[in-house]
Amino acid sequence: MKARLMNGGEIDLKQDTIDALRMRLRGALLMPGDSSYEESRTVWNAMIDKKPALVVRCLGVADVIACVQFAREHNLLLCIKGGGHNIAGLATANGALMLDMSLMRGVWVDKQRMVAHAQAGCLLGDVDRETQVHRLATVLGFISLTGIAGLTLGGGFGYLTRRWGWTSDNVIGMDVVTADARLVHASSDENADLFWGLRGGGGNFGVVTGIEYVLYPVGPEIVGGIVAWPASEAPGVLALYRTLAEKAPPELTLVAFMRPAPPAPWLPKEMHGKPIVAILACHSGNPEEGEKIVAPIKAFGTPIGDILVRRPYAQMQTLLDATQPKGRRYYWKSEYLSRIEPELCEKVIEHAAKIQSPYSAVILFQIEGTLNTLEDDHSPVGNRDARYVLNIAGSWEQADQDRSNIQWARNAWHDMKSFSTGGAYINFMTEDESPERIKAALGKGLERLATVKTKWDPENVFRTNRNIKPA
Ligand SMILES: Cc1cc2nc3c(=O)[nH]c(=O)nc-3n(C[C@H](O)[C@H](O)[C@H](O)COP(=O)(O)OP(=O)(O)OC[C@H]3O[C@@H](n4cnc5c(N)ncnc54)[C@H](O)[C@@H]3O)c2cc1C
Repeated sequence: MKARLMNGGEIDLKQDTIDALRMRLRGALLMPGDSSYEESRTVWNAMIDKKPALVVRCLGVADVIACVQFAREHNLLLCIKGGGHNIAGLATANGALMLDMSLMRGVWVDKQRMVAHAQAGCLLGDVDRETQVHRLATVLGFISLTGIAGLTLGGGFGYLTRRWGWTSDNVIGMDVVTADARLVHASSDENADLFWGLRGGGGNFGVVTGIEYVLYPVGPEIVGGIVAWPASEAPGVLALYRTLAEKAPPELTLVAFMRPAPPAPWLPKEMHGKPIVAILACHSGNPEEGEKIVAPIKAFGTPIGDILVRRPYAQMQTLLDATQPKGRRYYWKSEYLSRIEPELCEKVIEHAAKIQSPYSAVILFQIEGTLNTLEDDHSPVGNRDARYVLNIAGSWEQADQDRSNIQWARNAWHDMKSFSTGGAYINFMTEDESPERIKAALGKGLERLATVKTKWDPENVFRTNRNIKPA
């Protein structure tokens, strides 16, 4: 079995060497041809098609330690798969030893301390499901099938970001298997430098096996959903979005998007595939208050569909899941914005009209609030001046449509990037992003991250990520 070495070379792993690894594991060791190998090796974005040599479906910390030791003994390239949602496909690598964390999905809620401990293979929905039993939640993203590990290690934002900051701002501890195969805890009191690096520096410092999140009272009922209009109403709807977002209380998060209408049952059949503009709203506070606050959205113009209603918070967290299935082809460009300029809205309308596929969208996420109140070096995520995220989200099915869809996203981005703060979100970056863009994402934190990397992973064992080179 040919496998890739960390330094780029190749090694022929003998069967008895592979068997020796198998003996050290509780979870399954998979190779090409084994059932489940395909499921493990594939990631959300079908543009990425890589084949690790070996996949270990880790069942606990001991499996993770065994894999890191084995990789070190043989100098093997390692990769780590959480939810596999990273658009650049950073969870997988040809010829590598892949740690598939997807069977480590336990969540323990300490109601008294208002803390959840989640194993690193959890998807966002796993954490929401368990914390909502207690009417609690932490800050997670918009699609419940995304992995907590990648999202948290790169920052993380969602409907609760305006109230409580980046997801990583709400982490109080992580368990990590380091490059020398030790299990350590990182928090503000223990290994504080590592803790700082993990809250934005990605998977550069070790394999995270568990994450502790602060919880807040949320739900179970909130007001949330979508109101949609034909794209012809976009100038008015985006102006409304801009005005409402500027004065929205922190409990309310507003997202505007333009795309061809999906074949959703709440949209009239004759509109399916036709261009629409929509506002997605979530008021996570008192529902009566929420209903009053979202009333102007529901009353605006003549919507073609309106599902902005009282609903369980856990349901809100899954509302968009069907729009982002695993196995389509995806290409995104994104920028942080400090405000929504009327001229930007004009550009959104212009480029939405040029969308090449039934699934692509131009999206404006509101994130302004608590994250802007923390110091820039609170964590490597930085970008404390970001108040909105622009995401030009290309999504299509066939490889022969790659060129036109990628070109659409790139053209739109070139035309809109002048509105950027200069920063960008590392978790939304595709495979082809330049080192300058990584610098734009991590900014001033890069130098400090390199120091943390040098201490915790001097030989760069963890390199299938947005790699920070040891000094
Ligand atoms: C459909 C979709 C919706 C999204 N929505 C949001 C959103 O609402 N908010 C938001 O902030 N982001 C969002 N994202 C971006 C998301 O945060 C990133 O894609 C993130 O990388 C996903 O995490 P993952 O665990 O699924 O990734 P993976 O692809 O599994 O991993 C990503 C990186 O993290 C590393 N990693 C994974 N697990 C571990 C671990 N246990 N220890 C160390 N390193 C690890 C991997 O090696 C890899 O480098 C979305 C992405 C998609 C595809």
